[in-house]
Amino acid sequence: MAEKQEKGRLVVIGGGPGGYPAAFLAADLGFDVTLIDDRKNPGGVCLYVGCIPSKALLHVARVINESREAENWGVKYAKPKIDLDTLRKFKDKVVKQLTGGLGALSKQRKVKFVQGRASFVDNKSVEVTDAKGKKETVAFDSAIIATGSRPAMPKPLSLDGSDRVWDSTAALDLPSIPKSLLVIGGGYIGLEMGTVYASLGSKVTVVEMTGGILPGCDRDLAAVLHKRLKSQFEDVLLDTRVAEMTETKTGVKVKLIGLDLEKPERTFDQVLVTVGRVANSQNLGLENMNVELDDHGFVKVDHQRRTGESNIFAIGDVAGAPGLAHKATHEARVAVEALAGRPSAWDPAAIPAVVFTDPEVAWTGLTETEALNQNVRHKVAKFPWAASGRAVTLDRTEGLTKLIIDPGTNRVLGCGMVGVNCGDLIAEPTLAIEMGATADDIAMTIHPHPTMSESIMEAAEVYFGHSPHYTARK
Ligand code: FAD
Repeated sequence: MAEKQEKGRLVVIGGGPGGYPAAFLAADLGFDVTLIDDRKNPGGVCLYVGCIPSKALLHVARVINESREAENWGVKYAKPKIDLDTLRKFKDKVVKQLTGGLGALSKQRKVKFVQGRASFVDNKSVEVTDAKGKKETVAFDSAIIATGSRPAMPKPLSLDGSDRVWDSTAALDLPSIPKSLLVIGGGYIGLEMGTVYASLGSKVTVVEMTGGILPGCDRDLAAVLHKRLKSQFEDVLLDTRVAEMTETKTGVKVKLIGLDLEKPERTFDQVLVTVGRVANSQNLGLENMNVELDDHGFVKVDHQRRTGESNIFAIGDVAGAPGLAHKATHEARVAVEALAGRPSAWDPAAIPAVVFTDPEVAWTGLTETEALNQNVRHKVAKFPWAASGRAVTLDRTEGLTKLIIDPGTNRVLGCGMVGVNCGDLIAEPTLAIEMGATADDIAMTIHPHPTMSESIMEAAEVYFGHSPHYTARK
Protein backbone atom coordinates (compact mmCIF):
# COMPACT_ATOMS: atom_id res chain seq x y z
CA MET A 1 0.00 0.00 0.00
CA ALA A 2 2.87 2.33 0.84
CA GLU A 3 4.25 1.77 -2.65
CA LYS A 4 0.79 2.47 -4.16
CA GLN A 5 0.63 5.79 -2.37
CA GLU A 6 4.16 6.51 -3.60
CA LYS A 7 3.24 5.95 -7.28
CA GLY A 8 0.07 7.96 -6.86
CA ARG A 9 -3.57 7.74 -7.86
CA LEU A 10 -4.28 6.99 -11.51
CA VAL A 11 -7.70 7.32 -13.09
CA VAL A 12 -8.30 5.54 -16.40
CA ILE A 13 -11.42 6.60 -18.30
CA GLY A 14 -12.65 3.88 -20.65
CA GLY A 15 -12.26 0.13 -20.14
CA GLY A 16 -11.54 -1.02 -23.71
CA PRO A 17 -8.34 -2.69 -24.99
CA GLY A 18 -6.54 0.59 -24.32
CA GLY A 19 -7.97 1.35 -20.89
CA TYR A 20 -8.07 -2.02 -19.15
CA PRO A 21 -4.49 -3.08 -20.01
CA ALA A 22 -3.37 0.39 -18.88
CA ALA A 23 -5.22 -0.04 -15.57
CA PHE A 24 -3.88 -3.57 -15.06
CA LEU A 25 -0.25 -2.71 -15.88
CA ALA A 26 -0.41 0.40 -13.71
CA ALA A 27 -1.74 -1.69 -10.81
CA ASP A 28 1.08 -4.22 -11.39
CA LEU A 29 3.58 -1.34 -11.25
CA GLY A 30 2.17 -0.08 -7.97
CA PHE A 31 -0.28 2.68 -8.89
CA ASP A 32 -3.54 3.13 -6.99
CA VAL A 33 -5.88 2.67 -9.95
CA THR A 34 -9.52 3.59 -10.58
CA LEU A 35 -10.94 2.37 -13.90
CA ILE A 36 -14.15 4.08 -15.06
CA ASP A 37 -16.42 2.77 -17.81
CA ASP A 38 -20.12 3.07 -18.50
CA ARG A 39 -20.50 -0.68 -19.05
CA LYS A 40 -20.84 -3.31 -16.30
CA ASN A 41 -17.34 -4.73 -16.81
CA PRO A 42 -14.15 -3.73 -18.63
CA GLY A 43 -13.97 -4.74 -22.30
CA GLY A 44 -15.01 -1.63 -24.25
CA VAL A 45 -16.14 -1.66 -27.85
CA CYS A 46 -13.73 -4.47 -28.73
CA LEU A 47 -15.19 -7.05 -26.36
CA TYR A 48 -18.83 -5.91 -26.25
CA VAL A 49 -19.63 -4.68 -29.76
CA GLY A 50 -16.49 -5.02 -31.89
CA CYS A 51 -13.64 -7.48 -32.38
CA ILE A 52 -14.96 -10.32 -30.23
CA PRO A 53 -18.67 -10.66 -31.11
CA SER A 54 -17.86 -10.10 -34.79
CA LYS A 55 -15.25 -12.85 -34.74
CA ALA A 56 -17.60 -15.27 -32.96
CA LEU A 57 -20.12 -14.68 -35.77
CA LEU A 58 -17.43 -14.91 -38.46
CA HIS A 59 -16.42 -18.28 -37.03
CA VAL A 60 -20.00 -19.47 -37.53
CA ALA A 61 -20.04 -17.95 -41.04
CA ARG A 62 -16.89 -19.90 -41.88
CA VAL A 63 -18.44 -23.18 -40.68
CA ILE A 64 -21.55 -22.52 -42.79
CA ASN A 65 -19.46 -21.69 -45.87
CA GLU A 66 -17.21 -24.72 -45.41
CA SER A 67 -20.18 -27.02 -44.94
CA ARG A 68 -21.42 -25.81 -48.35
CA GLU A 69 -18.01 -26.30 -49.97
CA ALA A 70 -17.70 -29.78 -48.46
CA GLU A 71 -19.83 -31.05 -51.29
CA ASN A 72 -16.77 -30.64 -53.53
CA TRP A 73 -14.92 -33.01 -51.20
CA GLY A 74 -17.57 -35.70 -51.22
CA VAL A 75 -19.36 -34.69 -48.03
CA LYS A 76 -22.88 -33.40 -48.44
CA TYR A 77 -24.72 -31.63 -45.63
CA ALA A 78 -28.34 -30.54 -45.67
CA LYS A 79 -28.95 -26.80 -46.13
CA PRO A 80 -28.19 -25.18 -42.76
CA LYS A 81 -31.14 -24.03 -40.65
CA ILE A 82 -30.33 -20.90 -38.70
CA ASP A 83 -31.69 -20.60 -35.16
CA LEU A 84 -31.08 -16.90 -34.59
CA ASP A 85 -31.83 -17.03 -30.85
CA THR A 86 -29.24 -19.75 -30.24
CA LEU A 87 -26.70 -17.98 -32.43
CA ARG A 88 -27.26 -14.74 -30.50
CA LYS A 89 -26.93 -16.63 -27.20
CA PHE A 90 -23.63 -18.14 -28.35
CA LYS A 91 -22.28 -14.70 -29.26
CA ASP A 92 -23.53 -13.18 -25.99
CA LYS A 93 -21.99 -16.05 -24.00
CA VAL A 94 -18.60 -15.39 -25.59
CA VAL A 95 -18.85 -11.69 -24.71
CA LYS A 96 -20.03 -12.40 -21.16
CA GLN A 97 -17.28 -14.94 -20.52
CA LEU A 98 -14.53 -12.55 -21.61
CA THR A 99 -15.88 -9.36 -20.04
CA GLY A 100 -16.70 -11.23 -16.81
CA GLY A 101 -13.13 -12.55 -16.84
CA LEU A 102 -11.80 -9.01 -17.11
CA GLY A 103 -14.00 -7.98 -14.18
CA ALA A 104 -12.44 -10.75 -12.10
CA LEU A 105 -8.90 -9.81 -13.20
CA SER A 106 -9.66 -6.22 -12.21
CA LYS A 107 -10.60 -7.32 -8.70
CA GLN A 108 -7.56 -9.57 -8.40
CA ARG A 109 -5.35 -6.58 -9.16
CA LYS A 110 -7.27 -4.38 -6.75
CA VAL A 111 -8.22 -1.98 -9.51
CA LYS A 112 -11.27 -0.03 -8.34
CA PHE A 113 -13.85 -0.34 -11.12
CA VAL A 114 -16.47 2.42 -11.19
CA GLN A 115 -19.42 2.11 -13.57
CA GLY A 116 -20.58 5.46 -14.93
CA ARG A 117 -19.75 8.30 -17.29
CA ALA A 118 -16.74 10.40 -16.40
CA SER A 119 -16.05 14.03 -17.16
CA PHE A 120 -13.03 16.07 -16.08
CA VAL A 121 -13.68 18.80 -13.52
CA ASP A 122 -10.07 19.94 -13.84
CA ASN A 123 -6.62 18.35 -14.18
CA LYS A 124 -6.90 16.79 -10.71
CA SER A 125 -10.41 15.34 -10.57
CA VAL A 126 -13.21 13.74 -12.57
CA GLU A 127 -16.90 13.58 -11.88
CA VAL A 128 -18.57 10.22 -12.49
CA THR A 129 -22.33 9.99 -13.07
CA ASP A 130 -23.95 6.56 -12.77
CA ALA A 131 -27.00 5.30 -14.67
CA LYS A 132 -29.33 6.67 -11.95
CA GLY A 133 -27.75 10.13 -12.10
CA LYS A 134 -25.81 9.73 -8.84
CA LYS A 135 -22.55 11.69 -8.94
CA GLU A 136 -19.18 10.88 -7.42
CA THR A 137 -15.93 12.86 -7.62
CA VAL A 138 -12.68 10.97 -8.02
CA ALA A 139 -9.42 12.82 -7.38
CA PHE A 140 -6.25 11.74 -9.19
CA ASP A 141 -2.59 12.53 -9.63
CA SER A 142 -2.56 11.31 -13.23
CA ALA A 143 -5.20 10.21 -15.74
CA ILE A 144 -5.43 8.26 -18.99
CA ILE A 145 -8.19 9.03 -21.48
CA ALA A 146 -9.14 5.81 -23.28
CA THR A 147 -12.70 6.60 -24.28
CA GLY A 148 -12.46 5.03 -27.75
CA SER A 149 -14.79 5.72 -30.65
CA ARG A 150 -18.32 5.13 -31.92
CA PRO A 151 -19.81 4.42 -35.35
CA ALA A 152 -20.15 7.43 -37.65
CA MET A 153 -23.74 7.84 -38.81
CA PRO A 154 -24.02 10.81 -41.19
CA LYS A 155 -27.53 12.29 -40.89
CA PRO A 156 -28.77 11.60 -44.44
CA LEU A 157 -27.97 7.89 -43.97
CA SER A 158 -29.64 7.49 -40.58
CA LEU A 159 -33.26 7.90 -41.79
CA ASP A 160 -34.06 9.57 -38.44
CA GLY A 161 -33.11 6.50 -36.44
CA SER A 162 -35.21 4.05 -38.48
CA ASP A 163 -34.91 0.35 -37.50
CA ARG A 164 -34.18 -0.34 -41.15
CA VAL A 165 -30.77 1.31 -40.74
CA TRP A 166 -28.16 -0.42 -38.62
CA ASP A 167 -24.73 0.62 -37.47
CA SER A 168 -22.21 -2.13 -36.64
CA THR A 169 -23.47 -2.34 -33.04
CA ALA A 170 -27.07 -2.93 -34.14
CA ALA A 171 -25.99 -5.46 -36.77
CA LEU A 172 -24.04 -7.43 -34.14
CA ASP A 173 -27.26 -7.74 -32.13
CA LEU A 174 -28.63 -10.00 -34.87
CA PRO A 175 -32.16 -8.56 -34.81
CA SER A 176 -33.13 -10.47 -37.99
CA ILE A 177 -31.72 -11.98 -41.16
CA PRO A 178 -32.85 -9.52 -43.84
CA LYS A 179 -33.55 -10.93 -47.30
CA SER A 180 -31.52 -8.11 -48.81
CA LEU A 181 -28.88 -6.02 -47.07
CA LEU A 182 -27.11 -2.96 -48.40
CA VAL A 183 -23.74 -2.34 -46.74
CA ILE A 184 -22.60 1.25 -47.20
CA GLY A 185 -18.80 1.35 -46.98
CA GLY A 186 -16.34 -1.27 -48.24
CA GLY A 187 -13.94 -1.06 -45.30
CA TYR A 188 -13.14 -3.98 -43.03
CA ILE A 189 -16.15 -3.66 -40.70
CA GLY A 190 -18.63 -3.56 -43.59
CA LEU A 191 -17.02 -6.52 -45.35
CA GLU A 192 -16.81 -8.59 -42.15
CA MET A 193 -20.46 -7.95 -41.24
CA GLY A 194 -21.47 -8.49 -44.87
CA THR A 195 -19.71 -11.87 -44.75
CA VAL A 196 -21.66 -12.83 -41.62
CA TYR A 197 -25.06 -11.89 -43.05
CA ALA A 198 -24.34 -13.41 -46.48
CA SER A 199 -23.52 -16.74 -44.83
CA LEU A 200 -26.77 -16.55 -42.83
CA GLY A 201 -28.69 -16.15 -46.08
CA SER A 202 -28.98 -12.40 -46.80
CA LYS A 203 -28.36 -11.12 -50.31
CA VAL A 204 -25.63 -8.59 -49.56
CA THR A 205 -24.75 -5.59 -51.74
CA VAL A 206 -21.77 -3.40 -50.85
CA VAL A 207 -21.35 0.16 -52.11
CA GLU A 208 -17.93 1.75 -51.83
CA MET A 209 -17.32 5.30 -53.02
CA THR A 210 -13.63 4.78 -53.87
CA GLY A 211 -12.31 2.59 -56.66
CA GLY A 212 -11.65 -0.48 -54.51
CA ILE A 213 -12.63 -2.32 -51.34
CA LEU A 214 -10.40 -1.97 -48.28
CA PRO A 215 -8.89 1.45 -48.92
CA GLY A 216 -5.32 1.44 -47.53
CA CYS A 217 -4.67 -2.18 -48.44
CA ASP A 218 -2.51 -3.12 -51.46
CA ARG A 219 -4.66 -3.67 -54.54
CA ASP A 220 -3.30 -7.14 -55.41
CA LEU A 221 -4.36 -8.41 -51.96
CA ALA A 222 -7.76 -6.69 -52.05
CA ALA A 223 -8.36 -8.08 -55.57
CA VAL A 224 -8.17 -11.68 -54.32
CA LEU A 225 -10.78 -10.97 -51.65
CA HIS A 226 -12.92 -8.98 -54.08
CA LYS A 227 -13.03 -11.91 -56.50
CA ARG A 228 -14.27 -14.29 -53.82
CA LEU A 229 -16.73 -11.77 -52.37
CA LYS A 230 -18.36 -11.61 -55.78
CA SER A 231 -19.43 -15.23 -55.26
CA GLN A 232 -20.53 -14.63 -51.64
CA PHE A 233 -22.29 -11.28 -52.17
CA GLU A 234 -25.01 -10.19 -54.57
CA ASP A 235 -22.98 -7.19 -55.74
CA VAL A 236 -19.89 -5.14 -54.88
CA LEU A 237 -20.32 -1.68 -56.38
CA LEU A 238 -17.18 0.46 -56.56
CA ASP A 239 -16.92 4.17 -57.37
CA THR A 240 -20.51 4.32 -56.20
CA ARG A 241 -22.22 6.36 -53.53
CA VAL A 242 -25.66 6.63 -52.02
CA ALA A 243 -27.33 9.81 -53.26
CA GLU A 244 -30.68 9.38 -51.52
CA MET A 245 -32.44 6.98 -49.18
CA THR A 246 -36.16 6.81 -48.45
CA GLU A 247 -38.01 4.43 -46.17
CA THR A 248 -40.99 2.73 -47.79
CA LYS A 249 -43.48 0.19 -46.40
CA THR A 250 -41.38 -2.69 -47.67
CA GLY A 251 -37.84 -1.45 -47.18
CA VAL A 252 -35.40 1.30 -47.99
CA LYS A 253 -35.37 2.75 -51.50
CA VAL A 254 -31.85 3.79 -52.40
CA LYS A 255 -30.67 6.00 -55.26
CA LEU A 256 -27.09 5.25 -56.23
CA ILE A 257 -24.67 7.33 -58.25
CA GLY A 258 -21.80 5.46 -59.77
CA LEU A 259 -19.90 4.29 -62.80
CA ASP A 260 -21.67 1.84 -65.14
CA LEU A 261 -24.60 1.30 -62.80
CA GLU A 262 -27.21 -0.96 -64.38
CA LYS A 263 -29.83 -0.27 -61.70
CA PRO A 264 -29.33 3.10 -60.00
CA GLU A 265 -32.49 2.65 -57.92
CA ARG A 266 -32.84 -0.38 -55.68
CA THR A 267 -34.84 -1.34 -52.62
CA PHE A 268 -33.30 -3.21 -49.69
CA ASP A 269 -34.88 -4.74 -46.57
CA GLN A 270 -32.09 -3.38 -44.44
CA VAL A 271 -29.15 -0.99 -44.65
CA LEU A 272 -25.92 -1.26 -42.67
CA VAL A 273 -23.86 1.92 -42.46
CA THR A 274 -20.13 1.36 -41.92
CA VAL A 275 -18.55 4.58 -43.10
CA GLY A 276 -16.03 5.10 -40.33
CA ARG A 277 -15.82 5.88 -36.63
CA VAL A 278 -15.84 9.07 -34.57
CA ALA A 279 -13.56 9.70 -31.57
CA ASN A 280 -15.30 9.90 -28.17
CA SER A 281 -13.65 13.18 -27.24
CA GLN A 282 -16.79 15.24 -26.57
CA ASN A 283 -18.55 15.75 -23.21
CA LEU A 284 -15.38 14.82 -21.37
CA GLY A 285 -14.70 18.25 -19.88
CA LEU A 286 -11.50 18.54 -21.93
CA GLU A 287 -12.26 22.23 -22.37
CA ASN A 288 -11.55 22.60 -18.63
CA MET A 289 -7.93 21.70 -19.28
CA ASN A 290 -5.06 22.17 -21.67
CA VAL A 291 -5.98 19.12 -23.77
CA GLU A 292 -6.26 19.82 -27.50
CA LEU A 293 -8.10 18.01 -30.27
CA ASP A 294 -7.01 17.79 -33.91
CA ASP A 295 -9.30 18.58 -36.87
CA HIS A 296 -10.80 15.07 -36.75
CA GLY A 297 -11.61 15.25 -33.03
CA PHE A 298 -8.70 13.02 -31.93
CA VAL A 299 -6.87 14.02 -28.75
CA LYS A 300 -3.41 15.39 -29.60
CA VAL A 301 -0.61 13.46 -27.88
CA ASP A 302 3.18 13.34 -27.95
CA HIS A 303 5.50 10.35 -28.45
CA GLN A 304 4.63 9.08 -24.96
CA ARG A 305 0.87 9.64 -25.47
CA ARG A 306 0.95 12.67 -23.15
CA THR A 307 -1.58 15.44 -23.81
CA GLY A 308 -1.01 19.18 -23.24
CA GLU A 309 -1.50 18.47 -19.52
CA SER A 310 1.66 16.78 -18.27
CA ASN A 311 -0.29 14.39 -15.95
CA ILE A 312 -2.92 13.39 -18.53
CA PHE A 313 -2.42 10.85 -21.32
CA ALA A 314 -4.64 9.62 -24.16
CA ILE A 315 -4.51 6.22 -25.87
CA GLY A 316 -6.46 4.04 -28.28
CA ASP A 317 -9.07 5.13 -30.82
CA VAL A 318 -9.56 8.52 -29.14
CA ALA A 319 -5.89 9.32 -29.75
CA GLY A 320 -5.93 8.70 -33.50
CA ALA A 321 -5.67 6.10 -36.25
CA PRO A 322 -5.34 3.25 -36.79
CA GLY A 323 -8.43 2.23 -34.81
CA LEU A 324 -7.21 -1.19 -33.78
CA ALA A 325 -7.36 -2.94 -30.43
CA HIS A 326 -3.70 -4.03 -30.41
CA LYS A 327 -2.57 -0.49 -31.22
CA ALA A 328 -4.58 0.74 -28.19
CA THR A 329 -3.01 -1.94 -25.97
CA HIS A 330 0.51 -1.06 -27.06
CA GLU A 331 -0.15 2.61 -26.39
CA ALA A 332 -1.38 1.63 -22.92
CA ARG A 333 2.04 0.12 -22.18
CA VAL A 334 3.86 3.19 -23.48
CA ALA A 335 1.72 5.61 -21.45
CA VAL A 336 1.87 3.67 -18.19
CA GLU A 337 5.61 3.08 -18.46
CA ALA A 338 6.09 6.80 -19.13
CA LEU A 339 3.99 7.57 -16.04
CA ALA A 340 6.18 5.20 -14.06
CA GLY A 341 9.20 7.22 -15.16
CA ARG A 342 10.53 4.74 -17.73
CA PRO A 343 11.94 6.03 -21.06
CA SER A 344 9.10 4.50 -23.04
CA ALA A 345 8.06 5.89 -26.42
CA TRP A 346 5.55 5.18 -29.18
CA ASP A 347 7.78 4.02 -32.01
CA PRO A 348 6.43 0.85 -33.60
CA ALA A 349 8.13 -0.29 -36.80
CA ALA A 350 5.00 -2.21 -37.76
CA ILE A 351 1.34 -2.28 -36.75
CA PRO A 352 -0.34 -5.36 -38.18
CA ALA A 353 -3.85 -5.10 -39.63
CA VAL A 354 -6.13 -8.08 -40.22
CA VAL A 355 -9.43 -8.25 -42.09
CA PHE A 356 -11.31 -11.35 -40.92
CA THR A 357 -13.21 -12.03 -44.13
CA ASP A 358 -12.99 -15.31 -46.03
CA PRO A 359 -10.22 -15.27 -47.17
CA GLU A 360 -8.57 -13.09 -44.56
CA VAL A 361 -6.33 -10.20 -45.59
CA ALA A 362 -3.41 -9.07 -43.44
CA TRP A 363 -0.53 -6.68 -43.73
CA THR A 364 2.21 -5.22 -41.57
CA GLY A 365 4.99 -2.66 -41.84
CA LEU A 366 5.38 -0.84 -45.13
CA THR A 367 2.81 -1.69 -47.79
CA GLU A 368 3.85 -1.91 -51.43
CA THR A 369 1.63 1.11 -52.17
CA GLU A 370 3.32 3.15 -49.42
CA ALA A 371 6.75 2.12 -50.69
CA LEU A 372 5.82 3.34 -54.19
CA ASN A 373 4.18 6.57 -52.97
CA GLN A 374 7.05 7.40 -50.63
CA ASN A 375 9.76 6.50 -53.19
CA VAL A 376 11.25 3.91 -50.84
CA ARG A 377 13.76 1.69 -52.64
CA HIS A 378 12.25 -1.77 -52.44
CA LYS A 379 11.75 -5.13 -54.10
CA VAL A 380 8.63 -7.25 -53.81
CA ALA A 381 8.85 -11.05 -53.54
CA LYS A 382 5.55 -12.86 -54.01
CA PHE A 383 4.71 -16.45 -53.23
CA PRO A 384 1.33 -17.55 -54.62
CA TRP A 385 -0.48 -20.02 -52.39
CA ALA A 386 -1.26 -22.14 -55.45
CA ALA A 387 2.34 -23.38 -55.04
CA SER A 388 1.76 -24.38 -51.40
CA GLY A 389 1.03 -28.00 -50.51
CA ARG A 390 -0.95 -26.91 -47.45
CA ALA A 391 -3.15 -24.56 -49.49
CA VAL A 392 -3.90 -27.38 -51.92
CA THR A 393 -4.93 -29.70 -49.06
CA LEU A 394 -7.29 -26.96 -47.85
CA ASP A 395 -8.66 -26.49 -51.38
CA ARG A 396 -7.92 -22.78 -50.95
CA THR A 397 -5.17 -21.85 -53.35
CA GLU A 398 -6.26 -18.29 -54.14
CA GLY A 399 -3.99 -16.73 -51.49
CA LEU A 400 -0.77 -14.79 -51.79
CA THR A 401 2.13 -13.87 -49.48
CA LYS A 402 4.47 -11.05 -50.38
CA LEU A 403 7.44 -9.48 -48.70
CA ILE A 404 8.56 -5.89 -49.28
CA ILE A 405 12.35 -5.93 -48.99
CA ASP A 406 15.09 -3.29 -48.97
CA PRO A 407 17.40 -4.45 -51.83
CA GLY A 408 20.39 -2.69 -50.25
CA THR A 409 20.31 -4.52 -46.92
CA ASN A 410 17.79 -7.31 -47.60
CA ARG A 411 15.87 -6.09 -44.56
CA VAL A 412 12.19 -6.93 -44.45
CA LEU A 413 10.22 -3.68 -44.60
CA GLY A 414 6.72 -5.03 -44.90
CA CYS A 415 4.55 -8.04 -45.58
CA GLY A 416 1.10 -8.49 -47.08
CA MET A 417 -1.01 -11.60 -47.29
CA VAL A 418 -4.38 -12.78 -48.41
CA GLY A 419 -5.62 -16.32 -47.77
CA VAL A 420 -7.49 -18.44 -45.24
CA ASN A 421 -6.37 -17.73 -41.67
CA CYS A 422 -3.50 -15.50 -42.82
CA GLY A 423 -4.31 -13.19 -39.88
CA ASP A 424 -2.65 -15.76 -37.64
CA LEU A 425 0.51 -15.66 -39.78
CA ILE A 426 1.13 -11.91 -39.80
CA ALA A 427 2.76 -11.91 -36.34
CA GLU A 428 5.91 -13.55 -37.76
CA PRO A 429 6.77 -10.84 -40.30
CA THR A 430 5.78 -8.20 -37.71
CA LEU A 431 8.41 -9.61 -35.35
CA ALA A 432 10.86 -9.84 -38.26
CA ILE A 433 10.39 -6.13 -39.00
CA GLU A 434 10.67 -5.12 -35.35
CA MET A 435 13.87 -7.20 -34.98
CA GLY A 436 15.37 -5.78 -38.17
CA ALA A 437 15.45 -9.28 -39.69
CA THR A 438 16.54 -9.78 -43.29
CA ALA A 439 15.08 -11.97 -46.01
CA ASP A 440 18.07 -14.29 -45.35
CA ASP A 441 16.92 -14.73 -41.72
CA ILE A 442 13.46 -15.74 -42.83
CA ALA A 443 14.68 -18.02 -45.62
CA MET A 444 17.14 -19.72 -43.21
CA THR A 445 14.52 -20.33 -40.51
CA ILE A 446 12.97 -23.79 -40.63
CA HIS A 447 9.19 -23.50 -40.95
CA PRO A 448 6.95 -26.49 -40.20
CA HIS A 449 5.53 -28.46 -43.14
CA PRO A 450 2.81 -28.49 -44.30
CA THR A 451 1.65 -25.12 -42.95
CA MET A 452 0.83 -21.80 -44.53
CA SER A 453 3.68 -20.26 -42.49
CA GLU A 454 5.99 -21.78 -45.10
CA SER A 455 4.64 -19.19 -47.55
CA ILE A 456 6.59 -16.49 -45.67
CA MET A 457 9.82 -18.50 -45.93
CA GLU A 458 9.11 -19.30 -49.59
CA ALA A 459 8.48 -15.60 -50.36
CA ALA A 460 11.95 -14.88 -48.93
CA GLU A 461 13.32 -17.66 -51.12
CA VAL A 462 11.53 -16.20 -54.16
CA TYR A 463 13.46 -12.99 -53.41
CA PHE A 464 16.74 -14.89 -53.77
CA GLY A 465 15.42 -16.72 -56.85
CA HIS A 466 15.49 -20.22 -55.37
CA SER A 467 12.08 -21.10 -53.97
CA PRO A 468 11.76 -24.87 -54.41
CA HIS A 469 8.06 -24.67 -55.26
CA TYR A 470 7.73 -21.50 -57.31
CA THR A 471 9.70 -19.76 -60.00
CA ALA A 472 8.67 -16.15 -60.52
CA ARG A 473 8.16 -15.27 -64.18
CA LYS A 474 10.82 -12.83 -65.37
P1 FAD B 1 -13.02 1.31 -26.85
O1 FAD B 1 -12.86 -0.14 -27.05
O2 FAD B 1 -13.90 2.08 -27.77
O3 FAD B 1 -13.49 1.50 -25.36
C1 FAD B 1 -13.79 2.75 -24.82
C2 FAD B 1 -14.71 2.56 -23.65
O4 FAD B 1 -14.85 3.80 -22.99
C3 FAD B 1 -16.12 2.12 -24.02
O5 FAD B 1 -16.56 1.09 -23.19
C4 FAD B 1 -16.94 3.39 -23.83
O6 FAD B 1 -18.28 3.11 -23.53
C5 FAD B 1 -16.21 4.01 -22.64
N1 FAD B 1 -16.41 5.45 -22.49
C6 FAD B 1 -16.41 6.40 -23.46
N2 FAD B 1 -16.60 7.61 -22.91
C7 FAD B 1 -16.70 7.42 -21.58
C8 FAD B 1 -16.89 8.29 -20.48
N3 FAD B 1 -17.01 9.60 -20.64
N4 FAD B 1 -16.96 7.75 -19.25
C9 FAD B 1 -16.86 6.42 -19.05
N5 FAD B 1 -16.67 5.55 -20.07
C10 FAD B 1 -16.59 6.05 -21.31
N6 FAD B 1 -9.93 -3.95 -33.83
C11 FAD B 1 -9.02 -4.92 -33.98
O7 FAD B 1 -7.85 -4.71 -33.64
N7 FAD B 1 -9.36 -6.15 -34.48
C12 FAD B 1 -10.63 -6.43 -34.89
O8 FAD B 1 -10.91 -7.54 -35.34
C13 FAD B 1 -11.61 -5.43 -34.74
N8 FAD B 1 -12.89 -5.67 -35.11
C14 FAD B 1 -13.83 -4.70 -34.92
C15 FAD B 1 -15.14 -4.97 -35.30
C16 FAD B 1 -16.10 -4.01 -35.12
C17 FAD B 1 -17.53 -4.31 -35.52
C18 FAD B 1 -15.77 -2.75 -34.54
C19 FAD B 1 -16.82 -1.71 -34.31
C20 FAD B 1 -14.47 -2.47 -34.16
C21 FAD B 1 -13.48 -3.44 -34.36
N9 FAD B 1 -12.15 -3.20 -34.02
C22 FAD B 1 -11.22 -4.18 -34.19
C23 FAD B 1 -11.71 -1.89 -33.49
C24 FAD B 1 -11.54 -1.98 -31.97
O9 FAD B 1 -12.75 -2.40 -31.39
C25 FAD B 1 -11.11 -0.63 -31.43
O10 FAD B 1 -9.95 -0.20 -32.10
C26 FAD B 1 -10.80 -0.74 -29.96
O11 FAD B 1 -11.93 -1.19 -29.24
C27 FAD B 1 -10.34 0.61 -29.41
O12 FAD B 1 -10.06 0.46 -28.05
P2 FAD B 1 -10.12 1.68 -27.05
O13 FAD B 1 -9.60 1.16 -25.76
O14 FAD B 1 -9.47 2.85 -27.64
O15 FAD B 1 -11.65 2.08 -26.88
